[in-house]
Amino acid sequence: MCVPIPEPSAQPAQMEVLDRPLTALPCANTLRTLTRTPIARKRDRRSSPLLPSAPAREGQLGFLYLPPYRVQGISVAGEQTVIQIPELDVAFDIGQCTRAVLSVPTIALSHAHMDHVGGLPYWFSQRYFQKIGGETHMPDKPDGKPRVPVGRCVCHPELEPALRGMMRAWEPLERQRTPFDIVALEPEKDLELKNNILLRGIETRHTVPSLGFSVLERRSKLKEEFRDLPQEKLRELRTRGTEITKQMEIPLVAYSGDTAPGEFLVRDEFADAKIVIAECTFFEPDHGERARTGMHLHIDDIIRMLPVWKAEAIVLVHVSRRTTIHYARERIEALAGEHAARIHLLMDHRTNRARYDAQLAKALSAANPAPAAPANTELPPRESQEEIPASSE
Ligand SMILES: [Zn+2]
Ligand SMILES: [Zn+2]
Repeated sequence: MCVPIPEPSAQPAQMEVLDRPLTALPCANTLRTLTRTPIARKRDRRSSPLLPSAPAREGQLGFLYLPPYRVQGISVAGEQTVIQIPELDVAFDIGQCTRAVLSVPTIALSHAHMDHVGGLPYWFSQRYFQKIGGETHMPDKPDGKPRVPVGRCVCHPELEPALRGMMRAWEPLERQRTPFDIVALEPEKDLELKNNILLRGIETRHTVPSLGFSVLERRSKLKEEFRDLPQEKLRELRTRGTEITKQMEIPLVAYSGDTAPGEFLVRDEFADAKIVIAECTFFEPDHGERARTGMHLHIDDIIRMLPVWKAEAIVLVHVSRRTTIHYARERIEALAGEHAARIHLLMDHRTNRARYDAQLAKALSAANPAPAAPANTELPPRESQEEIPASSE
């Protein structure tokens, strides 16, 4: 802001300075002494009559440590959504290509609204340019070396042709080909993210073709009937070709993407996930209709899911900028009852920072326990000190 309007509360000395023409202004030091308090100084920096103000700092990544996973990224309805889980080698959506998301080899794209897909061509381009993900080459031009994808985007099958078209549209503009790997994932089908970790597409309900995702761990478990057998007997059964184990799927993380409520939200992949990441665009009590029109979730929809979702952590994303974090938290506290403690807002930087600092302090004290006081000088706990009667002194 560069309009030289003094604040009504400015003191006469300042008013006088501000009234003078720019050429007659005193030096910076004199100006500093005229400024009243640190708060006023900060405000003056923001709206100085001398200089236009510096731009607001760009959005900070939301961050939650939900052991053993980090959930990090940015998500604001209509602007951008990119949510990364580094430990699982995946990011959900890429409305903006943050520096952090460059390290992830797979983008699971929920749908192609601009706030979810806008960063995709840049992500492919930067991964290629910065040679991230190993040796880079054109995936469709095998050169005899092992194929190392430069990064892949997993999407609803209906989006695949248009996303390929979008990437090709850059070629005449840039006069070069950026390699890309776009993989259509049918709903109900799985794709391997890393060893025994699968990504499953789940059809959701939005204004455009859309998928939610489940990340599952595949484990083999000994069948019940063989549980009490000794090791050598099990070995013998295995060599005879008997299938002694069964495959199990452990839902780790579920991501709703943008969606209207639907029966898919009560599936095992959501009900049993350790972490549910759900959109929640609307919090105001009278915005139910708006949520239905835009095919989004309202806080009331989330509240209905709480008895079903067993997750240790429910991370709400895609909150509208119109809704303050304070108001969202207030509504959660008012509606979620005992469940409120497991609901997090990805973009609640202050609460999440305090939570992480507490986790850090706990980890530090576990790693370096305070040395115990020598036995003979050990003091009783504070409460009992207060109970010591005066006569005992
Ligand atoms: Zn969106
Ligand atoms: Zn959308």
